[in-house]
Amino acid sequence: MAVYCTRCGTGLPAGARFCSNCGAVMPAANVAPGGPLIRPHAGRQIAGVCLALARAYGWDVSAVRIITVLAFFFSSGLVGVAYLAAWIGIPEEPPDLSGAYPPGVYPPGI
Ligand SMILES: [Zn+2]
Repeated sequence: MAVYCTRCGTGLPAGARFCSNCGAVMPAANVAPGGPLIRPHAGRQIAGVCLALARAYGWDVSAVRIITVLAFFFSSGLVGVAYLAAWIGIPEEPPDLSGAYPPGVYPPGI
């Protein structure tokens, strides 16, 4: 089972400690699929909806993004409405106070 970089979304081998693409440290709690449906701060490209779905269901985030974009065009924007609904409906990841990042390593974006 693949895991995904929390910063850039690159697929990584299971149990990877570092991203082979951007070098980000992978907190163990953040890389396992099957977590709650939340929009993470790290690795999001638009609103984190695709990343939230990919992480919650263990899908490939790149595939989710491609399908979302294709579906947007083929549905004449209907998916865009659904995306906005998901943006509003999926709770934002709470600020990282759990110590998931090792000391001295700050989440991307700070
Ligand atoms: Zn990365």
